[in-house]
Amino acid sequence: MSAMYLSHLELQKMLDVVRATHPVEIDCDVCLMQVGEFAELNLLGKPIPEGIEAIEQHLSICDECREEYEMLCLALCN
Ligand SMILES: [Zn+2]
Repeated sequence: MSAMYLSHLELQKMLDVVRATHPVEIDCDVCLMQVGEFAELNLLGKPIPEGIEAIEQHLSICDECREEYEMLCLALCN
């Protein structure tokens, strides 16, 4: 039997830790698909649904998408 063997339970615990440190991570494609909705909700002061919270997280780490978001906000404000 290998010493590297992990039981399902141990594996599950490890995955939980990974999920806790990195909530939902999305890529730019997903972000750009939903950033319009996010910008609109934000401007209207509406609560951000769970699925879209990941957008906010992505915008905080991705310059490209944040630029897109800022342009959208400007467009929506006018
Ligand atoms: Zn991005």
